[in-house]
Amino acid sequence: MVMIERQKIKVIYVMGAGHSGSTLLDIILGNHPEIQSCGELKYNNFLNKYQENCLCTCGQKSQTCQFCNQVIDTWKYRTGIKNIKSYQRLQKKYEDTKIPFNLNWSKSEDFNQYLFYTLEFLKSLSSSSGKNIIVDSSKNPTRAFYLSLIPEIELILIHLIRDGRGVSYSIMKKNPDEKKRIKRLVFNKSTK
Ligand SMILES: [Zn+2]
Repeated sequence: MVMIERQKIKVIYVMGAGHSGSTLLDIILGNHPEIQSCGELKYNNFLNKYQENCLCTCGQKSQTCQFCNQVIDTWKYRTGIKNIKSYQRLQKKYEDTKIPFNLNWSKSEDFNQYLFYTLEFLKSLSSSSGKNIIVDSSKNPTRAFYLSLIPEIELILIHLIRDGRGVSYSIMKKNPDEKKRIKRLVFNKSTK
């Protein structure tokens, strides 16, 4: 008997500081015919933008974008989830934290539910796009760690490093109030 191994879903996960050019890298990778670029899939991003009906990268409002709707519908069908917010609560609980992974979580129903919804969401992105490689430029190391726990995922990490001066300039350009915080980080002293 020939054993056929079910194909794993490949996730290219972009790590690094914010303002390092992850969006640009995401778009460049997404130009490959076998890769689906998804932006940041971590807590408070893709699903939030969908619920707030923000603009999709295709130029349409998320809730009228055929691709976004197909992903959400497929995901709901596969998981039976009724309310997107219930998954977002789990994302917040596990991703929006700097607390190191607690081994007891692996036994918790909530945590296993979180992993299940996360995997099915990635699979829905894959089936809706017809591509087996997904780019997630979340950068959040906690989320990357959780993805590494899912056997059906082949995780490929890219640690993006941009010159710190470029990162600082980009942050300050967007928000001049950040200048003091950056000075404090770089020179490690008070700017009062
Ligand atoms: Zn779209």
